[in-house]
Amino acid sequence: FKPGDTKAEAVERRLANLGAASVLFYRQPIEMVAAQGAWMIARDGTRYLDFYNNVPSVGHSHPRVVEAVATQIGKLNTNTRYIVAIVDEYLEALKSHLPAALSNVVMTCSGSEANDLAIRVARAATGGTGIIVTETAYHGNTALVTETSPSALKRGSLPDHVIAVPPPSAGHFGNDIAGGFRASIEAAIAEFGRRGIRPAALLADSIFSSDGIFADPAGFLRPAVEAMRAAGGLFIADEVQPGFARTGEAFWGFARHGVTPDLVTMGKPMGNGFPMAGMAAKPEHLASFCTDVGYFNTFGGNPVAAAAGLAVLDVIREQGLQQNALETGRLLLDGLRDIAASEPRVAEVRGAGLFIGVDLAEEETGRPDADLTVRVIDAMRDQGVLIGAAGRYGATLKVRPPLCLNQAEAEQFLSAFRAAIRS
Ligand code: PMP
Repeated sequence: FKPGDTKAEAVERRLANLGAASVLFYRQPIEMVAAQGAWMIARDGTRYLDFYNNVPSVGHSHPRVVEAVATQIGKLNTNTRYIVAIVDEYLEALKSHLPAALSNVVMTCSGSEANDLAIRVARAATGGTGIIVTETAYHGNTALVTETSPSALKRGSLPDHVIAVPPPSAGHFGNDIAGGFRASIEAAIAEFGRRGIRPAALLADSIFSSDGIFADPAGFLRPAVEAMRAAGGLFIADEVQPGFARTGEAFWGFARHGVTPDLVTMGKPMGNGFPMAGMAAKPEHLASFCTDVGYFNTFGGNPVAAAAGLAVLDVIREQGLQQNALETGRLLLDGLRDIAASEPRVAEVRGAGLFIGVDLAEEETGRPDADLTVRVIDAMRDQGVLIGAAGRYGATLKVRPPLCLNQAEAEQFLSAFRAAIRS
């Protein structure tokens, strides 16, 4: 930025207000003023195709969600100590998508709170304390879930009661991802044994987004979950990223693996931007937690959240967004694999529905190339596409557009990527 530049002033103002905890995307951050559908509009008038999307999942400013929130907040919004019909209506609609055994849902305001609670419930239900996560996982920002989020650690190490295992990738386990992942869970359980710690849960994002997006082969999670249960622990499916139809093949990421989790946590797309999240549990697990401590959440699942959540479920169903995620996701996957076939620096393309990871690597060595990834992200931005990176090396592009993405927008993304990788 140049001195006197209004953008530099806006960044300085933000840093003065938010301090060291300010997180900004891009070295030259963008000031956004509006968004609609798959598009975001910057102060300078530039329109960006949003491929970073994981919150306004049914489309930015979706009129149904806007209307539902505005109507409800104009009628009744309150703390959560009263009976309000729309809240139960929402929970019943949400539960119609969940396994029947998980018939209690605790509403929270963030995915972090949902995971924090799930870990506490798992510990109360099992009497264990050990938590297994994957190497580059992110599960949130409370003290407890920061301990289970290796990707948030800038220095230091995980506490004794948390063990991180490699993500379920071919890079780690070759052709036997299911067997290799199971063996790594068993090794972690054995290590807990040596430390005198009983396991409480395997906590996994069922599409492993922060680890670099590992979706296939569907079913690979099952043996790992069985191993954890055999040791007396539970499986917490963190659906904050893959939930609410994103994978196309199923409403939840875990469903692709043919497992019924003991606890499910969810958030981000749940209210299309209205802050809401939750944890689904079996009544007996929740009851074992609630005998020792109470749980109350002032805002979690208030009437406005319920209205937003109901509108999101309606839109997913009425606009066929799960099917669109499947079809448009297939188009993106095929297009990206096509590019990979002629571009050696695109090492691997994998994913499910509208959640795809693209590994970028050095041409000569095949090693993950984080610098190239940053250059591609910047070049995509210059062409009007917003996209981020994930994975241990920061060399996996996270292709995650809104579920309403149409074919023309998917093709626009593919041409921008083709140009960016060749620039
Ligand atoms: N779990 C996963 C998999 C996430 O990606 C995130 C947020 N990036 C969280 C939990 C935490 O959610 P929140 O930011 O709403 O607290």
